[in-house]
Formats: sequence, structure tokens, C-alpha cells
Amino acid sequence: MDVPWLLVVHGSVTALVVVSFLCGQWPIFEGTFVQSINHFLTSGAYRHFLRLVQATCGTGARDLVLGVEQYCCDRPNPILQVFYVAIIGGTYIIIVQTSFKYIPGYYVSVLHRYLSIVAVAIGAVLFVLTSFSDPGTVTSENVSQYLSAYPFDNIIFVEKECSTCKFTRPARAKHCRICDRCVARFDHHCGWMNNCIGEKNTRYFVAFLVWHFLLCAYGAFILGLIVAGELKDKKVVYILTVYYGIENSFSGLFPHVAQWLLAVHNTQILLTVFLGIIALLLGGFCAYHIHLCLANTTTNETFKWQDYIFWMKKENAAKASAAALKASVSTVSGEERKSPASKWNTFFSRPRTPAEEPVVKNNIYDMGMIRNLCEVIVPLSERRSFSRKKSD
Ligand SMILES: [Zn+2]
Ligand SMILES: [Zn+2]
Repeated sequence: MDVPWLLVVHGSVTALVVVSFLCGQWPIFEGTFVQSINHFLTSGAYRHFLRLVQATCGTGARDLVLGVEQYCCDRPNPILQVFYVAIIGGTYIIIVQTSFKYIPGYYVSVLHRYLSIVAVAIGAVLFVLTSFSDPGTVTSENVSQYLSAYPFDNIIFVEKECSTCKFTRPARAKHCRICDRCVARFDHHCGWMNNCIGEKNTRYFVAFLVWHFLLCAYGAFILGLIVAGELKDKKVVYILTVYYGIENSFSGLFPHVAQWLLAVHNTQILLTVFLGIIALLLGGFCAYHIHLCLANTTTNETFKWQDYIFWMKKENAAKASAAALKASVSTVSGEERKSPASKWNTFFSRPRTPAEEPVVKNNIYDMGMIRNLCEVIVPLSERRSFSRKKSD
């Protein structure tokens, strides 16, 4: 009887962790325990771990951990690439060894034995393309073309020299401190790919995300069908109702069916939950990147816009308090006493203070969804017009 409760608690805790990790920074969760869990998962846990290492093993061990962190996070390295291959390869081998014996099954045809390997192979090809392709490195040879292709908006991108590369950094480009190069239409440096995500490989990266989301969802679905087929094939429901003498209802059967599943198909259940969680995480990440592509913006630019809006609001608030101070001073000095009857008018036609003015995000690179998508699929630097462009 404990099994259903165990499942409910397990499901609730998993959902809470996933939601906190993905959505904990949303304004709606501000000040709630969801935000606290997010802080703990994203930075707090690591800080506590460092303190623990220092307290138990001393400063030397702490410096060693920091050194490892620097190697893993601040320099190009294949650790996460190897980890990705191990996860994908390991999961596929476990599925082959534990679940292929049920294929063909009641609901699953033999076709999925071959379809699964093709799906994994396509995922691997997309991984190689994203990891080893040029993200759009800006060099002294192509910088003038990039300067022409991406005009400065003079809001979040102003004409400025890259202090390392010693040339004017094109708009939308960023110098990646890990790879030590300027990358056009920079999105972010991806540790899993050991590569920057930029102008030329955003298409492979998004395809990789979409494909792996579908791959995990497909795996979870087929494993679910295998288990459902076994239930049907072995007449488990019928046997349980007769054996325990219970009525054929959900509440009556669920504990016994769950117990049977965890005893006989625990590997398939664990794999389904694992793939389901990964699919959920990838689905969120996928949706975010598709939204960025459709709006012709990048992760880097999203942060820049956040900073810009934050500072503009601060500036507007400062202007508003200065204006309020000026108004109160002039009221006291009697300047405003000229029209006492216009109180209603001044109330209704009250001009907006600068603090109330909405800060507008004017993305000049947004040319409509279709053209934005075309720019990701066929990057500007791969178009014929690019090679003809010169900034001067
Ligand atoms: Zn640079
Ligand atoms: Zn990089």
C-alpha cells in the first residue's frame, strides 16, 4: 500500500525540482520557496559544497576544486562532450539490453528496433555539426563584411573596438573569453558542445535541441507502450482482479498494478521517468531558443536588453523624482497659484512622469518571423551579397 504514495511523493518532488530549476527566476515566483530552490540549485549548492570542502579538507582542497572549476568552465575542454556521448550511448545500450527483448510487442512493431538506431545516429550527426562547425568567427579578413551585414543599433550595440582582437567589433558579435575569439551574432558558449553558438551554427544547435527533445519523448513513449503491451499481453489486470478478488476499478487496481510494474518492469519505468524529465527540460530550452530565432535575438542580447531596461527605468525614476522636487519647490514659491480652478483639469490631463513612460525594446534586427527564421537557416555570411559587402 506504500507504493502509490511513494510514487506520488517521487513524482511531486521531481516536478517541483524541474519547475524550480526551469522557472524559478520568473517574477511570479519571486519571494517563494520555488525561487529559493532555484537559487540553491543554480548557485547555492556549489557555494555550500565549497564551504564543506574547506571545512573538512582545508584551503588546499578548496583551491583544487576551484582550479578544476576554472579548467571545466573557463577553458575549452571536452568533458561535457564526453559526458554527452556517455549518457546517449549508455542509455541506448541499456535500452537495447533490457527492453529490445519486448520488441516486437503487443503495441510496438519490430520497425522500432531500426528506427531507434537511425534516430540516435541523426542526433549524433547534429551533435558533431554543432560541436565542430565554425560558429562565425570574426577575423581581420571578414570583419568589414560583418560590419556591413550587421548595423549598429546604438542602443545595445555601439561602435567599439575589441580590446583582444584589435578591430571594431561588429554589432551582435561578442568576444568569447573561453575560445578567445570574436563570434558573429553570438548567442552563448555551450559547454556541452565545447563551442560557441553563433551566426553559422545556431541552426545546427536548434536542430540538435529539437531532435533530442523528440528523441527523448519518443524513447519514453515507446518504453511506455512496451510496459502497456506487457500488461495487456500477460493479462495482468485480469489475473490481479481474480487473485486479490477486487473490483475492476482504477482505485482498486492501481496499487496492485503499480506494485507489479515496479517489481517486473522497474528498469523500463526508471528509463521512462528519466527520458520524460530530460524531454521536459529539453522542451523548455527548445521553446526558448525557437522563440529567440523567431524574434531574431540571442541569449546574449536578451541579457543586454534586460540590463538596458533596468538602467532606463532607474534613469526615468531619477528624472521623475527630480521633476517632482522641482514641482513642489515651484508650488511653495507660489508659481502654480495662477490657475486654482484647473485642479480637475490637471488631474485628468496629468502628463506622464518619466518613471511611467514604458521602456520600449526596439530590436532593429527583427524583420518578421519568416525572414528571421531564414536568417538562422541561411546565415548572412553565407549569402552572395555578403562577399560583395565592404564597410568602407
Ligand atoms: Zn575579440
Ligand atoms: Zn566560445
